[in-house]
Amino acid sequence: MTPFVLLLFLVASPQDTGASKTQPRPPDAPAASTRDTATYRRVKAHLDSVPAIDTHDHLWPFDKLPGYVETEHGRGMNLAGLWRNSYYTWNHPLTAWQPGQKFDDWWAKAKHDFVNARAASFYRYQLPAFQDLYGVDFDRITDAQARELNDRIYRNYLEKRWLYEVVTEKANIELMFNDPYWARFDFKIDYPFGVLVFNVTTLVEGFHPSEFKASADDPYVFAKNKNLPMKSLDDYLTVLDRLFQEAKEKSAVCLKTTLAYQRTLRFENVSKDRAAQAFGRPRKELTEDQVRDFEDFIMWRLVELSAKYSLPFQIHTGDARIQGSNPMLLVDLIAANPRTKFILFHGGFPWVGETGVIVLRHGSHVWIDSCWLPTLSYTMAKRAFHEWLEMMPSNKIMWGADCNHAEGIYGATEFTRRCLAEVLAEKVDRGDLLEEHARRIGQQILRDNALELFPQLKERLWKRKGKLER
Ligand SMILES: [Zn+2]
Repeated sequence: MTPFVLLLFLVASPQDTGASKTQPRPPDAPAASTRDTATYRRVKAHLDSVPAIDTHDHLWPFDKLPGYVETEHGRGMNLAGLWRNSYYTWNHPLTAWQPGQKFDDWWAKAKHDFVNARAASFYRYQLPAFQDLYGVDFDRITDAQARELNDRIYRNYLEKRWLYEVVTEKANIELMFNDPYWARFDFKIDYPFGVLVFNVTTLVEGFHPSEFKASADDPYVFAKNKNLPMKSLDDYLTVLDRLFQEAKEKSAVCLKTTLAYQRTLRFENVSKDRAAQAFGRPRKELTEDQVRDFEDFIMWRLVELSAKYSLPFQIHTGDARIQGSNPMLLVDLIAANPRTKFILFHGGFPWVGETGVIVLRHGSHVWIDSCWLPTLSYTMAKRAFHEWLEMMPSNKIMWGADCNHAEGIYGATEFTRRCLAEVLAEKVDRGDLLEEHARRIGQQILRDNALELFPQLKERLWKRKGKLER
């Protein structure tokens, strides 16, 4: 961009309103950080204006949101629920909410819980929601503000409208992929902005019906409902195929697995005979090796079905069972299945460089999803975006909020827009990227890359029409 054009842009750009949604900074802070630069503000304003395609969330049906507690006014959402059902509680304490208790009694104890979390991304990612949606600086919150905040949260969740408002307007999300791990084979979309994901995590355990606790997650229940036999491994493979057909008919756009929470991501190419040894027998009659053989065999079949039904495969990589979640463990499976589109979730945190090199080598059919990454570590996410954009084409990266309530989704979205804007502004100010290209890249990650990989979503876009069918 020439200086003349830049000048025009500065004067005329409608986006350059100077309205920054960042946390207030101390008045005596040096003006050296990226977020103080005019470049950042312009890039950020542009990214804020991009209606995002969020490729990963867990937004339960409104009446079943996991954050609800028994308040003194009845069941509903409150401040305790928002924190408990956030990532904060994964490694920080939170005073338990007692059913029906008075907010002041809970807060008197809970306000001290945050003392060791102040710098943690698992704490900080929710702060933009309190700041921007409620005007509260949570780092400096007073008792009176906490009480008022709690009341407002409760009132907001009396109506589903709040979710719509926060997700589609405040967070400016146009479509949101929803991973319904609470009812995997119901194939239901609970929100008009929702995009159905087919969660296949439990299917690798299909060697025996005793593996399944909930009917909506149970392939044996599915088979029975469809009058399909389940007497052999071949029967099971037929049922898997039918599940894929059903998912496709119900408009699922991709697969998702979180197996990294329970086992290694190294899947051997096991023979059918070896896998068949486990079929029809309960876990207590099987060795660990036999169970793993079955899981490995089914995972390979799922990867093949992913290609057959054109359902790209979102795979949780990184932080889970850390012994076995390095995305490098997937490389043989990826290399052997070039027709399957793999999406490596969470950037493989903390192995973000390894994840990058997998895309470098297998980029024709591998993408990165940065969902959850800025929430895990804002700075590592910045490093990852910086490095990935230097290693791979800019149409390989997506993002998602990965949360289960409106405030978490808002916070994670704002965190991501901020993080991306910082990275892009730094590259621009260093002279390594033109600002117009930075804007385009930001828009690709937030929106265009998902539409390129999932072109069927173009039919579901509604923002330009201005109306969401409810
Ligand atoms: Zn998730």
